[in-house]
Amino acid sequence: MTKTTADPLSLIMDVPDFPKKGIVFKDITPLLSDAAAFAAVIDRLSEPYMGKGIEIVAGIESRGFLLATPMAYRLGAGVVPIRKKGKLPRKTHAASYALEYGQDTIEAHQDAFAPGAKVLLVDDVLATGGTAAAGVALLEKLGGSVQGVAFLIELGFLNGRSKLPGQKVHSLVTY
Ligand code: AMP
Repeated sequence: MTKTTADPLSLIMDVPDFPKKGIVFKDITPLLSDAAAFAAVIDRLSEPYMGKGIEIVAGIESRGFLLATPMAYRLGAGVVPIRKKGKLPRKTHAASYALEYGQDTIEAHQDAFAPGAKVLLVDDVLATGGTAAAGVALLEKLGGSVQGVAFLIELGFLNGRSKLPGQKVHSLVTY
């Protein structure tokens, strides 16, 4: 159902203290469920990469999948899921990143794409940048040529870009 076409990004909702106190969670589900807003955002996220020969769009579990998949279709590319440890059935490569307490690991199939493929990495939110940096490291371990890293939302005050040196980072809205 279409609620508005004015500013799709205005549909993103702030949810204070989720999943824990002090975090303002950016809820993109109202944007995703609005047909016109969803289409506009996928078009705007894809636009810088049109005609750039992107072969693979890699999305980070799980909200990254919701953006990477329609972007891949739009760009005429394949889609690759980067998943949390233990979810993929065949041989994987992995990359780990630090959390506030401990660490997390993401994985992709070793044969997810041909070495040298032009790959775009996508996630919904760039916060501290740890997840995306691990995503880039993983794609490079797989032999990918990372052409860019795209986010719907960037939390500028957390300076996640500093964890992505040398990468072309693109986001639609910065808070
Ligand atoms: P980071 O590794 O700190 O850049 O965190 C990025 C990951 O955590 C992304 O996969 C986001 O989906 C999620 N994330 C971090 N902060 C938020 C937030 N304020 N609202 C929604 N998702 C977030």
